[in-house]
Amino acid sequence: MCYTSSMPTTGILLDDRFKRHATGDGHPESPRRLEVIQRALADAGWLERCAMIPARAAEDAVLQYVHTHAYLTRLDAACRQGYPYIDVPDSAICPESFDIARLAAGGTLEAVRRVARGELRRAFCAVRPPGHHAERDRSMGFCLLNNAALAACVLKQEFGLDRILILDVDVHHANGTQHIFEADPSVLVISLHGHPHYLYPGSGYEDETGIGPGRGYTMNIPFLPGATDDDYREAFKTRVIPAVGRFAPQMILLEIGFDAHRDDPLGNLALTDDVFAWMTEVAIELAERHAQGRLVSILEGGYNADVLARCVPEHLRLLAG
Ligand SMILES: [Zn+2]
Repeated sequence: MCYTSSMPTTGILLDDRFKRHATGDGHPESPRRLEVIQRALADAGWLERCAMIPARAAEDAVLQYVHTHAYLTRLDAACRQGYPYIDVPDSAICPESFDIARLAAGGTLEAVRRVARGELRRAFCAVRPPGHHAERDRSMGFCLLNNAALAACVLKQEFGLDRILILDVDVHHANGTQHIFEADPSVLVISLHGHPHYLYPGSGYEDETGIGPGRGYTMNIPFLPGATDDDYREAFKTRVIPAVGRFAPQMILLEIGFDAHRDDPLGNLALTDDVFAWMTEVAIELAERHAQGRLVSILEGGYNADVLARCVPEHLRLLAG
């Protein structure tokens, strides 16, 4: 008997509880983003065709692979005491936010473990709050816990991997992810984003390439306002694909943000739906070539509902293809 052929090879993490992280009226990182994604994926039939990955709270010990005990205690207390935000007004919280962020992180870790064990080939984590701006010891830019960084640490600690790629295509620089691994040659962090001179968070210059033993394992590719699909394709062909080839990752984590789209209210680039599909295909191909196919895509930004409703189902169609 062979069950393999009928087993879904792509998993999806999407939990109603992620919508309970309330950020207040007018905040772009709202529960509505997940509603739109959920509806679009359901309408396209992807929720039935993928394996559902359960969200479970990430353990304290695992959170401390990345975050300081002091920050975790502070975040927990700020939520329980009903503070409206932590560290910066951007990072809005509600009393449940720490619990929800732990669920999102823990669900992402479950997705990564299943892919690392070969139970799933690929996975998509439709999580919020997002993670890539979160630093070891503080929140930034809507992000509370750094989901992808935690995933990379679990791959190192539990699976012994020593060549993990984090590829970030959100329009904003992946400052948290970069800083967490900037001295670590076992995690290559590549971030494509709007130029820091014009866009939040004001870091991610090309000459930020890592420190100490991690020098050469951070790659930043900033784009001037109005950059197009062709600019992104060119950067992938001349820089990203060769760098990934040299590194030969054992697993790929994709921090996918849809805010580099020309219709996004927070971005300043001019990408279209086409290049998001193309980047997904490139990530899949790189995973097939170097990482036994193992690819986990983790949602970061993207604030235009129509863009999310079109691009996320297409992203999943390609992952599940
Ligand atoms: Zn972003």
